Amino acid sequence: MLMPRLVNPAFGDPGLYVDFRNEKRALLFDIGDIAALAPRKLLRLSHVFVSHAHMDHFMGFDWLLRVSLGRDVAVRLFGPPGFVDQVAHKLAAYTWNLVDSYPGDFSVLVSELSPQGRLASAQFRCRRRFERETLEDASVDDGVLVDEAGFRVRAAFLEHRTPCLAFAVEEKAHVNIWRNRLEEMGLPVGPWIRDLKDAVLEGAPDDTPIRAGWKESGERKERVLALGELKARVLQIVPGEKLCYVTDAAFSEQNARRIIELAKKADLLFIESVFLHEDVDQAQMKSHLTARQAGEIARAAGARDVVPFHFSPRYAGRESELRAELELAFRGGSSGKAPG
Ligand SMILES: [Zn+2]
Ligand SMILES: [Zn+2]
Repeated sequence: MLMPRLVNPAFGDPGLYVDFRNEKRALLFDIGDIAALAPRKLLRLSHVFVSHAHMDHFMGFDWLLRVSLGRDVAVRLFGPPGFVDQVAHKLAAYTWNLVDSYPGDFSVLVSELSPQGRLASAQFRCRRRFERETLEDASVDDGVLVDEAGFRVRAAFLEHRTPCLAFAVEEKAHVNIWRNRLEEMGLPVGPWIRDLKDAVLEGAPDDTPIRAGWKESGERKERVLALGELKARVLQIVPGEKLCYVTDAAFSEQNARRIIELAKKADLLFIESVFLHEDVDQAQMKSHLTARQAGEIARAAGARDVVPFHFSPRYAGRESELRAELELAFRGGSSGKAPG
């Protein structure tokens, strides 16, 4: 189960920490000021997704490095074009003459996505003084950067006068087992349950044979059942949640279309709302969204709920106006003229 939380209050640096219930791991979207995240939270990170390398989205990398040094942990980073060099430059800014004696070998695997769907990657390992080890390029289908058994992360390119990535995390369905019904069928639990769940999560057809194996008074027993029968009788399939993180985007038809596609029917959309719409010219000039534009995009995407962030400091004391403007547009209230 995904537990998302903005790293900072809405006037602070953008960032979304997504924790997993019952799993020792978390994801981070943008890594600006991360002082609010305790080291134990940083050490849970398996992946960090960086929208673009403006300082407010990337300066926290140094702190993650500091906390992780000397430990046997690995973190995977993703970013837009030029990102592998940018991480390499950060790592090259320090002196690494004493790393041989460190107890663990912290490693960073960095990938940058191109708009054509190529993924260029390099690895940097502490024991090798973070020298770049270039890895083979890969290709990415439909923006999917990570595809694990439990979830998938997809990226879309937005224009912010520099390419900027927006991200969606789609949790795959959960599969629960009705133990009592399993017992009624005379089937004990065992490692075969894992295979059964995997088959469901992989979308295997209903006639897929599932081998239920167990030991009974020293004897090996096995029964083969069709996946469809087990689905109908002993499984409860709960659809997964979808979260979306969208920041630093100019308001344009193309950006709006891409955000709407990425965030389609998201359960929760985190979207920047940097300016009030009264300052739409400023927003346009700085390649950011207004709260009203963000609300209208969230509405068009059919998001179930929306959370604004990345408020401009110029609105200190006017937080409620930004929130109200987004909310009104999201609920489809009349807001005067169309966004310009
Ligand atoms: Zn930016
Ligand atoms: Zn920003």
